[in-house]
Amino acid sequence: MPTDGAYSYGVPEGMDLKPGDYVQVPLGSREVAAVVWDEQENNVDPKKLRNVISKFNCPPMKPGMRKFVEWIAGYTVTHPGMVLKMILRVPTALEPEAPQKGLAFTGTQPERLTTARKQIMEFANHGLSWTKSGLAHAAGVTASVVDGLTKQGVMEIIELPSRPLFPLPDNSYGTTELTPDQREKADKLRETVKTNKAGVTLLEGITGSGKTEVYFEALAECFAKGKQALVLLPEIALTSTFLERFESRFGARPAEWHSELAPKAREKTWRQITTGELRIVAGTRSSLYLPFKDLGLIIVDEEHDLAYKQEDRVFYNARDMAVVRGQIEGFPVVLCSATPAIETRVNAQLDRYAYLKLDSRYGEAVLPDIDIVDMRKNPPARGKFLSPIIIKAIEETIARKEQALLFLNRRGYAPLTLCRVCGHRFECNNCSAWLVEHRFRKTLQCHHCGDARPTPEACPECGTLDHLVACGPGVERLGEEVIDAFPDARTIILSSDMAGGVKRMRLELDAIAKGEADIIIGTQLVAKGHNFPLMTLVGVVDADLGLSNGDPRAAERTFQLLHQVTGRAGRAGGKSQGLLQSYQPEHPVISAIKAADSEAFYEREIDARRLSSLPPFGRLAAIIISGQDRRETESYARSLRQTCPKSDTVRVLGPAEAPLAMVRGRYRFRLLIHAPRNFALQDWLRSWFKEGPRPRGNIRVQTDIDPQSFV
Ligand code: ADP
Ligand code: ZN
Repeated sequence: MPTDGAYSYGVPEGMDLKPGDYVQVPLGSREVAAVVWDEQENNVDPKKLRNVISKFNCPPMKPGMRKFVEWIAGYTVTHPGMVLKMILRVPTALEPEAPQKGLAFTGTQPERLTTARKQIMEFANHGLSWTKSGLAHAAGVTASVVDGLTKQGVMEIIELPSRPLFPLPDNSYGTTELTPDQREKADKLRETVKTNKAGVTLLEGITGSGKTEVYFEALAECFAKGKQALVLLPEIALTSTFLERFESRFGARPAEWHSELAPKAREKTWRQITTGELRIVAGTRSSLYLPFKDLGLIIVDEEHDLAYKQEDRVFYNARDMAVVRGQIEGFPVVLCSATPAIETRVNAQLDRYAYLKLDSRYGEAVLPDIDIVDMRKNPPARGKFLSPIIIKAIEETIARKEQALLFLNRRGYAPLTLCRVCGHRFECNNCSAWLVEHRFRKTLQCHHCGDARPTPEACPECGTLDHLVACGPGVERLGEEVIDAFPDARTIILSSDMAGGVKRMRLELDAIAKGEADIIIGTQLVAKGHNFPLMTLVGVVDADLGLSNGDPRAAERTFQLLHQVTGRAGRAGGKSQGLLQSYQPEHPVISAIKAADSEAFYEREIDARRLSSLPPFGRLAAIIISGQDRRETESYARSLRQTCPKSDTVRVLGPAEAPLAMVRGRYRFRLLIHAPRNFALQDWLRSWFKEGPRPRGNIRVQTDIDPQSFV
């Protein structure tokens, strides 16, 4: 619950409760799961206390985890209850799994040995226990034959012990011969895990340098100590390649944790993590809240990735919180990336983090040659988006039976649709955003609230038929252009809103890796982690796309994305090429990518941040105020602004209407707080919220510490 402290309850006679125990309690007219918190003053009249209903038969939440909950609540300026809610998301897992009923042979022989019975006896005789359906299936008979034998006392019903979802990882299952450089880095990581030193290591290395192979060694060390490990990954589509690689190294699959997990699997996984039966979890940001029995290592892969930032209810960055969890519980954390976040890089340079860097690609693989296509000199044909230079490069690539990737970070067919007659623009009713045409689905969709309507034939404003025109490119439209230009090539379009969801995506990614496609068109999704051996050309359709949106992180984001995308080429050796279409080829980010000069980029960007005291040299927080009535919302934002505590060093900017001024029917205003690095920002914010006017009605105030998004 969003309250400041814990609620008080009475303990019924005979119930023994300690801090950390999971309990069921009454709350208003409901019953909810809760955790017994550490001591706190009780100021409720004992006669009025309601009793705890029951205690779950589940290992208690460890003190470190409770401290973690409080730490996050304090840091993100939310309530501990809201953080705890993320841990209690699987209430059914709090009860032990109901034991499965099984059958075992008693030694009594059946009365009449029919053929069907004989078949069963052949299987049942080996001293193993069976489930009823399993035995019937194996023997090729119906379950009623098994029932008959049970009635006769030939088989008896027993409780099968619960079994771990996955076998334990086996360190010696499949070892990789590391290169001397990889070995050196792996040994250092192993040493950190071995001595169980809390502390953070940045493992930086260009795409394909073998970071995964190196951190597998750290995992092996962690398993050798009998401890559990967590690998955080930004994306679910990525996870399948990771799972396979892990399996071929350790002979067992890791447990997965993400939003698509089926309820039953979720329940079992959560439970077996608390009991320690599961040693390794690979999951997205929410896996950080799993109550491990004995966690010994967290790896954050692609640590710079925005997917780690949650911007809803509790605004947190899972990478930063992983570091905190490691500090509280006293184990090492490894952050991996080819393009670390500026914050991480600075921490490494200042020796707050240990710093390991892999400088070359593994084996024959070399980084692609990067060339910029100056779009002012090489414009595409009218209504098209590919320059003649990219078209020619694709031609040559597929003639060599290699693959080309075209990257465009825009889903759908076109980002804007308008009427050629009256100029009407299709806009979302609930958000200040254009509707994006999705031609496959024949809909216009809002990418902010998900609202979708069928694409009309006539303009709703002037009624003219068939005069709607698509403006700008999306991946679907680019697909059309490619199929037109290369009708005989096998083209695949990959985007996260594709029909068929994650399952289909995994199949498509596999197909690409096997060479079953010539040209791949994709959004952000294809930029990450995948290994496509045949890919030798990466074309970025609009390299400038992220540079113009004016937020303090635009340069960093664009650099990371472009580096990541072009890094898809040439993973298996041989020559490869990256082509960036740009209207501003002189831009420092674009030229750093061209020169493959990460250091130049980091140096410049870090200097710029230092000069303007932006993170990590200063602190930022955003306050987002939203409400259903524009005037009320704005006026609340203003009155809040006026009550902010006096300070000589903190700057408060705004309130300003948010760039995304309306989302889901709610008007949005933003305040931006800029404070020095050592300023106690959270305390200051809390005292402000305490003194300031209460938000009334439907007005909501959200705090975003270290904001990544400025819309
Ligand atoms: P990164 O995580 O840095 O992008 P990976 O660990 O994915 O790099 O390695 C890139 C590719 O090179 C993978 O296919 C991996 O199996 C292979 N590879 C890396 N190091 C070795 C090694 N020492 N022996 C065999 N294959 C390796
Ligand atoms: Zn919308």
